[in-house]
Amino acid sequence: MTSIVWLIAMEIDINKIRKQSKEKEDENWEFRSFLKGCGIPTGELDSLVHRLYQKVSSEIDCKKCANCCKEVPPILDKDDIEKFSKSLGISNVQFKEKFLVEDKEANGFIFNKKPCPFLKNNLCSHYPNRPKGCISYPHLHKSGFVFRLMDVIHNCSVCPIAFNVYEFLKDEINFKCVE
Ligand code: SF4
Repeated sequence: MTSIVWLIAMEIDINKIRKQSKEKEDENWEFRSFLKGCGIPTGELDSLVHRLYQKVSSEIDCKKCANCCKEVPPILDKDDIEKFSKSLGISNVQFKEKFLVEDKEANGFIFNKKPCPFLKNNLCSHYPNRPKGCISYPHLHKSGFVFRLMDVIHNCSVCPIAFNVYEFLKDEINFKCVE
């Protein structure tokens, strides 16, 4: 499981990705169960995902998509709020009142509108001050991929990078357990 064999085509049309993600839903959940029980070491799986992520993200232009900014509200913590409100020249309280709602489950705040109110012409109008959740999305550079598979499957229908990485991962591992 060391080499990446690029045998399937990459899909970048978000409408087709939405449709295919729906069609592949059962297979995606089945692959999640497989990954959890197949015995591939966590670090080995992470390395493969990181390599797939690097390759796929180098071939996709997020500025032409921006679908995450349209569909997935980032969680803002205290530091994100501080930084963002300062860049707007308003207080934290004013920023919260105007743009945010509390998300108790996530222990933070999210934007009160979808698409994000700071998305202008498919670009982030506050890019240098965007929240950490936006910088990190779709989180495939992180470790512990196998523990975040519910989010990964959700992101497959939203983000062309997540969709293609999961497709290539299925193709690469091909439901084969380690001996
Ligand atoms: S803050 Fe910027 S990067 Fe984050 S969701 Fe809004 S437009 Fe997108």
